[in-house]
Amino acid sequence: MGLGTTSPLTVLGCALAVHSAAATGSHHFATDSSTFDYVVVGGGTSGLVVANRLTENRHSYFDDKPEAIIPWYSTAVDTSVLLNPRSAPNSKLYNATHNVTVAAVVGGATVVNGMGCDRGSKADYDAWEELGNPGWGWNGLLPYFKKSTTFTPPNPDVVDRWNITWNTAAYGKGPVQVHISNFQYPDIDTIWEGFRQQPGVTFPPGSSSGFGPGAYWSANTIDARGMTRSTARSAYYDPVNKTRSNLRLVIGQTATELLFDRGKPLRAKGVRVVSSFDAKVRNVYARKEVILAAGAVMTPHLLQVSGIGPASVLKAAGIKVEKDLPSVGANFQDHATVVLWFNLSTPSFPNSDSISNNATYNATVWEEYLTNRTGPVAAANSNSIIYYSLAQVLSPSAAASVASRLLAQDARQYLPAIYSTSSALLRGFKAQRAILAQRFTTNTSSYTAQPLRGNGQSPSPLLKPLSRGTVTLNLTHPESLPVVQYNTFINPIDEELAVAVVRRSRRYWASPALQKLGPTERQPGAEYQTDTEISDYLKANRLALFASLAHPSGTCAMMPEKLGGCVGSDLRVYGVKGLSVVDASVIPLISGTSLQATVYAIAEKAADIIKARG
Ligand SMILES: Cc1cc2nc3c(=O)[nH]c(=O)nc-3n(C[C@H](O)[C@H](O)[C@H](O)COP(=O)(O)OP(=O)(O)OC[C@H]3O[C@@H](n4cnc5c(N)ncnc54)[C@H](O)[C@@H]3O)c2cc1C
Repeated sequence: MGLGTTSPLTVLGCALAVHSAAATGSHHFATDSSTFDYVVVGGGTSGLVVANRLTENRHSYFDDKPEAIIPWYSTAVDTSVLLNPRSAPNSKLYNATHNVTVAAVVGGATVVNGMGCDRGSKADYDAWEELGNPGWGWNGLLPYFKKSTTFTPPNPDVVDRWNITWNTAAYGKGPVQVHISNFQYPDIDTIWEGFRQQPGVTFPPGSSSGFGPGAYWSANTIDARGMTRSTARSAYYDPVNKTRSNLRLVIGQTATELLFDRGKPLRAKGVRVVSSFDAKVRNVYARKEVILAAGAVMTPHLLQVSGIGPASVLKAAGIKVEKDLPSVGANFQDHATVVLWFNLSTPSFPNSDSISNNATYNATVWEEYLTNRTGPVAAANSNSIIYYSLAQVLSPSAAASVASRLLAQDARQYLPAIYSTSSALLRGFKAQRAILAQRFTTNTSSYTAQPLRGNGQSPSPLLKPLSRGTVTLNLTHPESLPVVQYNTFINPIDEELAVAVVRRSRRYWASPALQKLGPTERQPGAEYQTDTEISDYLKANRLALFASLAHPSGTCAMMPEKLGGCVGSDLRVYGVKGLSVVDASVIPLISGTSLQATVYAIAEKAADIIKARG
């Protein structure tokens, strides 16, 4: 692992991938019993940020395929670098199971994601502070949103042609490259005309200033210098790989267990890893801290197999309880998404389906990209998005009525069983619920959104879910992939509001401007009209209701322990010294947009917090 004389840091990367490019020498093996200042588990989004920053004073596992580099591929997921556990059957959805997208590659989810790069509203992050995390509100995070990003605007003629807006002040000179493509399909005019026809819509400048509901030019993680995907790897690892002798990334190593000094207090001293190259088990040690960055599905799993988690679950799996922490794997949140589809009888040419269904166009635009780095292949999924508050989905009075009914619920009835055994978890959920009820009655944060590409696909995520899922180790085979239960619609208000979101989406497509495209609803279909009809359709059709938008979060929540938190605002795991979490697991309440910008900011802030400890 060649860490030079100081040997401060190692990143255990992507140990779970089995694909792709040949890895070379020093990345392959963690020397048994090596000691570092920090051991970071997870060479993904948050892990590479923290590793880069902590060493400021180094395959798969490296994915260099076109899918990981060319923006157009953001319209589909490269499943070859994913672990794909299935979720547990959900009785609310006729026992349906769903894909769980866990990236296993250097750069983590940023290598496969949809490249949308928005921030939630100010109120979304202020909620984190309200939940007992000083310094983690919008004002506390803004410097890190800026520190992580650089924005490159489109060309001036493109800006004029499309009235593209952004807020330069929201960005800094950070490693993650953010851009709005110069290429837009002609029907995007119609999409925006439709936005303008929605009652009460506002047009804030840029989706990165915390404004909340409104119609936006949404940015992408595109490096405008070569029109390539900007990832945690390209932003935080590649630039320092050759020059940081104090950073080593080891690939193909799965962290299987944390190692402890079992004094009082318990102290994490290292990690046991198994190599996918020689199947050997090795121990690596951290002088200062072990930092978990394995993502919101695998971090709680690693904690649980190591004896940190709900005691009842650990005992049932035959695992020695090091620290009873019911929060590990609870509070699981994602953005369940309803997806409407419209057949368009009169779309313009070209449109966002043309690359797939017109061979001549396909050949032309690929040639254009390879020659000039322009055209639709240089563009990502979508730049046009409208966010709605709950009051805009329903009406202010109906939203207030939902908030009152939410507060009147017997919370335990609609939560996973673990909440009935932990009064702290229940208190924490009630604190979240009070905040959500307040947000439901204002226009300060978004309840849903429509990111649109100009074809007939119309997804709308539920950005403020009330249902809570769980990530739990497999009781009979703890070492295997965890059991992921999304629990979509376990809270009936989520189901009720999903129906309202379908109606909101239909209203958009019924607006006069959209008739230019000749839309006919194919999914669910105009015959589904009553609440029950719509709801039953969603529950029975996996393509109409995604349980996940690949935004797992919350499974090691940053909140006071008495509110069912797992880490404090210093990101240290309660009851264990020398152990921090820096990934999407710490998000206490999921923010109302896609997560990558938020995770980058969390990790930047985490690095400063950890550095300050010395
Ligand atoms: C398909 C997909 C589409 C998405 N689309 C968008 C989008 O358009 N916009 C947006 O903002 N967000 C999007 N997201 C979400 C966003 O990318 C993630 O929330 C964010 O990148 C998560 O960062 P993380 O550090 O928590 O986890 P990750 O980036 O997943 O990193 C975890 C890393 O840990 C490694 N690891 C896991 N377990 C172990 C172990 N036991 N030992 C060693 N290493 C381990 C993994 O290999 C991985 O490299 C998407 C995500 C996916 C998967």
